[in-house]
Amino acid sequence: MTAEILDFRDAVASYDPVLGLEVHVELNTHSKMFCGCSTEFGAEPNTQTCPVCLGLPGSLPVVNGAAVESAIRIGLALGCEIAPWCRFARKNYFYPDMTKDFQTSQYDEPIAFNGSVTIEVDGVDYVIEIERAHMEEDAGKLLHVGGATGRIQGAEYSLIDYNRAGVPLIEIVTKPIRGTGANAPEVAKAYVSFLRDMLRSLGVSDVRMEQGSLRCDANVSLMPKGETELGTRTETKNVNSLRSIERALRYEIRRQAAVLRSGGRVHQETRHWHEDGGYTSPGRSKVQAEDYRYFPEPDLVPIAPSREWVEQLRATLPEMPAVRNKRLQAEWGFTDREFGDVIAGSALDLIEATVAAGASAAAARKWWLSELARRANEADLELTELNITPAQVAAVQKLVDAGTINDKLARQVIDGVLAGEGDPEDVVASRNLAVVSDSGALEAAVDKAIAADPDAAQKVRDGKVQAAGALIGSVMREMRGQADAAAVRALLLARLS
Ligand SMILES: [Zn+2]
Repeated sequence: MTAEILDFRDAVASYDPVLGLEVHVELNTHSKMFCGCSTEFGAEPNTQTCPVCLGLPGSLPVVNGAAVESAIRIGLALGCEIAPWCRFARKNYFYPDMTKDFQTSQYDEPIAFNGSVTIEVDGVDYVIEIERAHMEEDAGKLLHVGGATGRIQGAEYSLIDYNRAGVPLIEIVTKPIRGTGANAPEVAKAYVSFLRDMLRSLGVSDVRMEQGSLRCDANVSLMPKGETELGTRTETKNVNSLRSIERALRYEIRRQAAVLRSGGRVHQETRHWHEDGGYTSPGRSKVQAEDYRYFPEPDLVPIAPSREWVEQLRATLPEMPAVRNKRLQAEWGFTDREFGDVIAGSALDLIEATVAAGASAAAARKWWLSELARRANEADLELTELNITPAQVAAVQKLVDAGTINDKLARQVIDGVLAGEGDPEDVVASRNLAVVSDSGALEAAVDKAIAADPDAAQKVRDGKVQAAGALIGSVMREMRGQADAAAVRALLLARLS
């Protein structure tokens, strides 16, 4: 199933990747794009439908004003021009998951166009030019039943859920992104990550990739070094995590390079990303825009946002991520590298909230990027999906600062919080995790450790303080970790002086 691939370094030494990214964002409006049906995620299949979103004869769509408002705000945040007048268009195609057999979209008259954003990868700024951001409706969802993979191949039958049909989408399309070289996969990932943060700060979408409210189609083609004519591109569909975007592009660059190196031709086609196997496989041949027979939607009036309205919306834009990043890095006193790790780890919001809950920035960074990042990685979850809140992380640190627990016990407290045993204070109480401050118990443990290892004790008496390490270790074991190592050390040295 997997194709021949070239080593990545070899591939980018011979070819320049050119990227194109299409990101679909599901808006978080309460109702759908052209009807009043609810958009809430996770409802019983086919309970959020009506004649309009089922495309029944005679039904007439009406544009959702809140969705238009979100579209304009997104366009402005992307630095786009906002069309003074634009229309919807019908994109004709057989969609099993869209009963109308056309998608109401925008074609040559998008609501927002000609924008640009700047992202940073490894200290280098990349300007990503935005071709357009247009409004459209989502399709329903197909569920293929009976096969091993959940894909249509091998399935016995398919079910269709139309709850998602008609949910407002914004499609954001970049112009070809050149000059990223070996960084192409990271640039694509950083761009989508940037969009996710931006859309979240705009409050227009849940931007949950795992639920499909942010989806990325990643186009890439290769140009032999030194040439300027674009190669044939492939489009890898619906890559549903940031990590997958990077991996899928890395794979496609290696695969295309192998095809070209062997004198072959890259086919223009859509491809599917297989997360488990880490490879792409061919989908359908890419349809040309002409094949969709676009024409202006006759059932909807054009949209003509007044300049006053656009300016009012511009005034509602929040601080943009790049500006916010600079501010937070300065406030927290992080080095570029430390802050880069925070961004790469998608921990910015969590750390900000943890700091707001009373923790120092350094402590917040430590917990989220080490212990909690490790747990998230093990469970294959995003940090935000862990069963612990920023306030709880701040509470753990507060307990450490107060000397109630040490770092080692804090990890057990985190275990308890993640296991749903309540707030950190509750876990300390229920698991009896507080550092033992009973000096009698501590002294007894120290005496026991000295008696058990007289050689080490003698060395410490002779001034070889580093020999105390073994004794501190056995005291900590005796205390089941529930002692303050600094206090143990002080007590030991006092005993052996
Ligand atoms: Zn409806």
